[in-house]
Amino acid sequence: ASVAGGDEKLVVKDYFNTAGFERWKRIYGEAEDVNSVQLDIRQGHAQTVEKTLSLLARDGSIQGLSFCDAGCGTGSLAIPLALRGATVFASDISSSMVAEAERRAREALKSDPALQLPKFSAQDLESLSGKYHTVACLDVLIHYPQDKADGMIRHLASLAESRLIISFAPKTWYYSLLKRIGELFPGPSKATRAYLHAEEDVEAALRAAGWIVRNRDMTATRFYFSRLLEAVPVGSA
Ligand code: SAM
Repeated sequence: ASVAGGDEKLVVKDYFNTAGFERWKRIYGEAEDVNSVQLDIRQGHAQTVEKTLSLLARDGSIQGLSFCDAGCGTGSLAIPLALRGATVFASDISSSMVAEAERRAREALKSDPALQLPKFSAQDLESLSGKYHTVACLDVLIHYPQDKADGMIRHLASLAESRLIISFAPKTWYYSLLKRIGELFPGPSKATRAYLHAEEDVEAALRAAGWIVRNRDMTATRFYFSRLLEAVPVGSA
């Protein structure tokens, strides 16, 4: 259904508390009852998480560093960060997602009492405050058009001290074409609109906030594609 004219954020929140929660919890899980499209997306997304972790590792250990995982979903990034000894704050606009992330985190961390459980919160990223060594926001911008994304990026940048990690579906002629002919976003994910973002638009928003891209990566499978940017404050690159 189109959300034209409606409150986009409310539609996204509602979706990720209901049908979207059921769908994505399965994709971001390990159960075998997924179809081939969902399996492809699961594998692609796992690569984005892996690439994020190896980007972070380039700067050394993350033990003791503070992280904000904005739009944490079921905790796919927040949990491995906590397992590596980071202090993690993880939030999502969907309270169902946050509850599932917390459940998975407790399970994943239970064998090591020395590890710190992430602090979870159900709130949209626009309302986050505080300062974190690193702010990460993976695969969230896809739900928002570029004019909204600019403000979200600016806000995320204001929360970060040293590092900002953002992934998004890149707007290239090729992906725009696939999207138009319906090759991308198959199945019920169409319940919300999906927005591609031009890399230069995302970089311009980062630059306007005083950040510069230091590393970039890309993951593309058949149905999943995500550009990964690591930005640092201008002058520290
Ligand atoms: N970042 C997670 C990951 O990579 O595993 C989840 C990605 S999932 C495609 C998008 C998530 O963004 C959903 O959990 C959704 O509820 C959340 N979300 C959407 N809009 C948001 C907003 N304005 N603030 C916070 N979270 C949001």
